[in-house]
Amino acid sequence: VSAFDDHRAPPLELLDDCVHCGFCLPACPTYSLWGAEADSPRGRIVLMQAAHEPDSQLSDVVVAHWDRCLGCMACVSACPSGVRYDTLITRTRAQVERRYRRSWRERAARRVIFALATHPERMRPLVALAPLARVGGLARRGGRVGMLASLARALPPRPRRARLAAVTAASGQRRARVALLQGCVQRAAFGAVHDASAVALAAEGFEVHAPPSPRCCGALQHHAGDAEGAMKLARATIAALEPYDLVAVNAAGCGSTMKEYGELLGDDPAWASRAEAFSERVRDVCELLAGEPRAERHPLEATVAYHDACHLAHAQGISAEPRAMLRSIPGLQLREVSGAEACCGSAGIHNLVSPTTAAELGDRTAHALLATGAEMVAVANPGCALQLAARLRALGHPLPVKHPVELLAASLNGGELR
Ligand code: SF4
Ligand code: SF4
Repeated sequence: VSAFDDHRAPPLELLDDCVHCGFCLPACPTYSLWGAEADSPRGRIVLMQAAHEPDSQLSDVVVAHWDRCLGCMACVSACPSGVRYDTLITRTRAQVERRYRRSWRERAARRVIFALATHPERMRPLVALAPLARVGGLARRGGRVGMLASLARALPPRPRRARLAAVTAASGQRRARVALLQGCVQRAAFGAVHDASAVALAAEGFEVHAPPSPRCCGALQHHAGDAEGAMKLARATIAALEPYDLVAVNAAGCGSTMKEYGELLGDDPAWASRAEAFSERVRDVCELLAGEPRAERHPLEATVAYHDACHLAHAQGISAEPRAMLRSIPGLQLREVSGAEACCGSAGIHNLVSPTTAAELGDRTAHALLATGAEMVAVANPGCALQLAARLRALGHPLPVKHPVELLAASLNGGELR
């Protein structure tokens, strides 16, 4: 009997692809923080191999090394041998959640996060209470109150609901019928990003549909090892959005998960082929909007530092498209950031369960952004936007943080950024 069971364990043949060369080490944020082999991609892979051995166990120490992985997938981009660390860590986490008993504190924390963050209607009161949490110092308290306050404190100061029409007509000849994923955190806290996505997609010839379902695509659960929860939400997402030609996503973590539905539901005979076909039709909004512009852009005088969200750059391989989109805006000066592809510490639920490490990584990124002298930050993922805004505020430089599509929509709307 080994620590892993036979149900979707990280496959030995994928683990054996690692030749232990160490090229991934400099790219790994946790290795750069602590310099410990067991907190590197290579070290975590060795621990997965060991967990396949007879009489191995999921000890607290081993699980802690996997838990500390940010899931940023910088190692996937860096690896010359094509090691599928993304599949390996996702399957490892699912094994851990099924076979390892966490402390009651950890279980309670995860339960609170999933019960709130993946339900937009439950998030709304929290969004309204966010200013209270910021002044009250509640986030320094332990337990569930502190957890709730941390979550609330990370939310934007003046969030507003999206004003999406059920259908927004395409301008000019229609390219495709696109469903815009509304999701959970984005819907509750970043309505302006949805509005901007509809404006920009319609201007560029897409007919935009905004169905209210699904409530959540399952990305947070998928990245945290709750495979059952993720599969349930994946099935609901496919059922709701598969009638459309394409599915547009403006949250990098959601897009990367939806592109992995084929792997997630691969063992479910009723859903495997549907999931595979669905994933083929998922696009980040930046992919849809980076082509030759159709609609007139108006000048937007701003210097903007673009930060690569890990689940866009590393997990989906999309880094040129958002830059091309921003460069299509007259007057906008794009500033490149040193280490723009390094994780900001948001990393799914990581900034809630490991706030100290998250703050350290967030401050590194915030300093790099400030060093560009830009007056605004652009990033294409809600978790990163919350994290960067919070760290910039903490450093006393509260630069506005926008999704690139908000800047494009402002340019299309006459050059006024609200
Ligand atoms: S994951 Fe890739 S880069 Fe890292 S040690 Fe293994 S083979 Fe080398
Ligand atoms: S996913 Fe990120 S944190 Fe985890 S091992 Fe790879 S580079 Fe390191």
